[in-house]
This record gives sequence, structure tokens and C-alpha cells, in this order.
Amino acid sequence: VREVSVSYPKVSIRKGREWQIAHGHPWLFSGGISQAPKADPGSLVDLLDVDGKFVARGYYNPNCDIAVRVLATDCTVEIDTTFFERAVKNAITLRDQAIDRTNTNVFRLVNAEGDLLPGFIVDYYDGVLVVQSHTAGGDKLLPLFLEALKTVIKPKAIVLRNDANVRRREGLEIEPALLVHGDLQGELLVKENGLDFVVDPLQGQKTGFFTDQRDKRVTLQKYCSNLPTESTLANCFSYTGSFSVYANAANRTLLTTNVDESEPALNQARRNFAVNNLDAQPHEFIHADAFAWMESQASAGRTFDIVIVDPPAFAKSHKDKQKAFKAYKRMDKLALSILKPGGILVTCSCSGSVSLNEFEEALKEAGQEANCSVQVLETFRHGADHPVLAMTPESTYLKVLFCRKM
Ligand code: SAH
Repeated sequence: VREVSVSYPKVSIRKGREWQIAHGHPWLFSGGISQAPKADPGSLVDLLDVDGKFVARGYYNPNCDIAVRVLATDCTVEIDTTFFERAVKNAITLRDQAIDRTNTNVFRLVNAEGDLLPGFIVDYYDGVLVVQSHTAGGDKLLPLFLEALKTVIKPKAIVLRNDANVRRREGLEIEPALLVHGDLQGELLVKENGLDFVVDPLQGQKTGFFTDQRDKRVTLQKYCSNLPTESTLANCFSYTGSFSVYANAANRTLLTTNVDESEPALNQARRNFAVNNLDAQPHEFIHADAFAWMESQASAGRTFDIVIVDPPAFAKSHKDKQKAFKAYKRMDKLALSILKPGGILVTCSCSGSVSLNEFEEALKEAGQEANCSVQVLETFRHGADHPVLAMTPESTYLKVLFCRKM
């Protein structure tokens, strides 16, 4: 029998609701609580079953549907810097194993619940860390977490990006980006699979670069390398052009068209060609709504050998699901309409509330309406640096299908 060395205010779990948590599910919903102390949002608590037995330890937000997020299921584990140092070491061990760090220095270092660090996201940009806290508990524990990151990773700088909209669900403010440690002179040049990318951790979207597409970018190269001279690729929702840079690096004669509604992202895309010694001049950078652009190309009868559609999340929550489904279907139908027969479609969804099945269904219906057969070639989710717990498949968000139009 272990001694209970530490304890926190007690939250009692309703009968029958403790099982999942005892078996590794990291959330207790507000409906699963029978008794809770008066506590500030983000306070550490101990979860007890109906018999008063310890089940888990975590942080509590009385104003949130996910009322408790679990940090530990061992009652002797204190939530201190040692706890966070252990978790960060564990996280970097996985990345060392899963990523070839000799040619990649940009990756997700901490993926919240997936790394047993609920509320925290950390992206690693060549020694600069970009940290997000999404929860009240995350905000309260941030000083301890930052200390642990400094000790274990010894970063050149830490930027805090508490500007994600999900913070509102926890009743938190949206804050401007803030340099909280070290030195950072604006932009960084990072390396992914040997290619360079300009990243602005203070002003870029999310934390500056979408590391969740790394493995899909490599896969794209396979489909580009043997295409005939001057084949064409439409990169819709291109952001800073990463897919196009990979494609062009694999096939120098490939002509890419990059479409995004963000002018700064497109300017950065041009520079991402340049920093890889690829001439941006023959490529197109189009500031437009991708839906309207695809429509205009379809009307003009212009088609491409490869079309990529990687939009932002269409569904922010379950109630937008139907709307999102329709948007994916419309997007795929438009993408198919500007794709040559035999061409490759890369369609992506980062809406957590749309399942892989539903996303495949949207593609199926799009194919039917576009009057073509669609072969699904390869299906992807997150890369290994975005681990998701088996107990929380609901935390999975990314789905990417590589398809071929017939
Ligand atoms: N594929 C990119 C990430 C895309 S992120 C990568 O691997 O880096 C989604 C992008 O869609 C953002 O750059 C955003 O500016 C853009 N966007 C959002 N809505 C848009 C719209 N309606 N039309 C065109 N671009 C849009």
C-alpha cells in the first residue's frame, strides 16, 4: 500500500462514471460529478469514487463541460516541476525516435492529452518553442510547465501564443503573442525533411507552421516525381506553400498555382521557394477565395494534374457538422472538376467533429455529382509527433485522402 503523500481538494465522481477514468480516459464531464468544492477555474483536485477511494488527480474548471482533465492516476504523484519535467522528457524521447532530427528541426513537441499533458500544445522550431495553453488549468500550471521546458529542452526562446479561440470555451481571454523567454529576432528558418521554411512564430497562423502535414508532404513527392514536364499542381488553401515547395523540389518542371485568402501567407510562400533555391517566378500566387477560384477555373475549362485542398476546420463543434459535411462535398466536387482524368486529388479535413467515415462519404457524393469514379489510394491521419490516446479517439482531427480521378 502506497502512502498518500499529497492531496488536493476532493471532487466526487457519480457512481459508474469512475471506470473510464481509472482505465485511462483523461476527462470527467460536468455531469459525472456528484460533489465538488468551491474552487477557482484551473485548481488542482483529487477525484474520488463513491466509496471515497482515490481515482485520479487533475485540474478542474467548474465553468466548462469537460470539468476535470486528468494529470495522474497515481496518488503519490505531485503536480510539480518534476512531474512536468518527466512528461516533457517522455515527449522528446518519442520525437527523437519518430523523427529524423538530422534533416527536420520543426515538429510538435507536446500534443496535449496525447502526451498526457492536457491543455498544452508546444511546437518546436529549431530550438524555439511556441507554447499554447487552451485551458484554465493550463494557465494556472503554466509557470511550472515553462520551468520544465527550460530545464529539459534548454530552448533559445519561448513564445506564448494564447490566441487560440478554443480558450473561450474555458472562459479564458484571447491574448496577444508574447515572448516569455530568451531572444527572438522576428522570423526563423526551419528545416523539414531537408527543405527550408520561413516561419514567424509571433505572427504566423496558429503557431506558424503546420507540422501535422509533414508525412503527407513527403507522400505528395512520390506522385510528383514522375509526372511529365510542365505538369500542373493547384494548391488550394496553400498557406505558405509547403506542399508546393515539396512538389517542386521533387519535380523541377512542375508548375504550381497557390491559392489563399491571406496575402502575407502567399508572400511567405514565394520566399519559401526562394530559400530552397527554387525559382518562384514560373509559379502562380493567387489571392482569392479558394471556392470561387476553383469555380472560375472550372468555368474556364482549366484542369490540373494534381489538386490539393487543405482548408481550415469547417466545423468548430458538433453543431456545425452538417454544414461542414456540405462544405467538404462542395470542395471535393470543385476540386474534381478542375482535375484531369488520371490526376491526383489530395483532400484534407482538420475538423475534429467530422469523422473519417463522414469525410469519405462527402468524397463519394462529390464523385457521384461530378460524374467520375474516384480511387482512394492512401489514407492518413496525424504524424507520430501528434499522438492521440487510444482512449480518446475524439481528439483525432486530421484526415487526408490521396485519390485518383478516373
Ligand atoms: N496546407 C497548408 C496549411 C493550410 S491552412 C500547409 O501545409 O502549410 C489553411 C489555409 O487556408 C490558411 O492559409 C488560410 O489563410 C486559408 N483560407 C481559409 N479560408 C480560405 C478561403 N475561403 N479561400 C482561400 N484560402 C482560405
